[in-house]
Amino acid sequence: MIYFIGAGPGAVDLITVRGMELLKRANLVIYAGSLVNPELLSYCGENCEKLNSASMTLEEVIKAMTSYPKESAVVRLHTGDPSIYGAIREQMDELDRLGYNYEVVPGVSSMNAAAAVLKAEYTLPGVSQTLIVSRMAGKTPVPEKENIRSLASHGASMALFLSVSMLKKLCEELIEGGYAPDTPAAVVYKASWPDQEIVRGTLATLPEKAAHIGRTALVLVGGFMGSEYERSKLYDPAFSHMFREASK
Ligand code: SAH
Repeated sequence: MIYFIGAGPGAVDLITVRGMELLKRANLVIYAGSLVNPELLSYCGENCEKLNSASMTLEEVIKAMTSYPKESAVVRLHTGDPSIYGAIREQMDELDRLGYNYEVVPGVSSMNAAAAVLKAEYTLPGVSQTLIVSRMAGKTPVPEKENIRSLASHGASMALFLSVSMLKKLCEELIEGGYAPDTPAAVVYKASWPDQEIVRGTLATLPEKAAHIGRTALVLVGGFMGSEYERSKLYDPAFSHMFREASK
């Protein structure tokens, strides 16, 4: 069986128990070496073959995955959660075509780890009930309808991947799109790694404050990092719901 596993954001104890157990019995692990913490490979057994996919093509990855008998355990280890910028769909489609079975094991995305280190809630009542997950167009394009300016027009919470190297342009476009220049914004570099770094500011101040961070970081934007919000209805004494009557 082939397992696509989310490695989590970096810290070795932020992989799921299921993912760790599969690493322990894997015959082959193909890991995304540019971002996956190599210490995770210490969960693997002695005879496990390990391949870094950083310099491999899709074809080479598929060839390696299918070079083992179908009853062995082959792990494709992706950073964070594989459903976010994981490029797993093309691998799964190719395995379907070749008649191989696979399963996906989710992981803790870096957007979850970043919220945790900021001690933030993306969906604050009265602020935003929507989280937009996106990226700037760079070498890899983004569909035109999803350009940063139009996404910014919602004023929702935003988690921006793969964009910190274009931070100045990103913040300019967010402001052009409708966010006030004093909207809270943060860069979280290598969330959950020992060299993690948090830079907090506003859309106006962040480009300069975080200019030294060039990669492996998320840009988070929105009023959810501010101080104003409403209490939740769920825990409001005056609000009844399925599990609790309002107190009089
Ligand atoms: N599947 C991954 C994202 C892969 S795309 C996930 O769910 O997190 C790679 C981008 O993710 C990086 O450019 C960076 O923007 C972000 N990223 C990955 N790990 C990170 C971490 N530990 N801290 C901050 N950002 C991270």
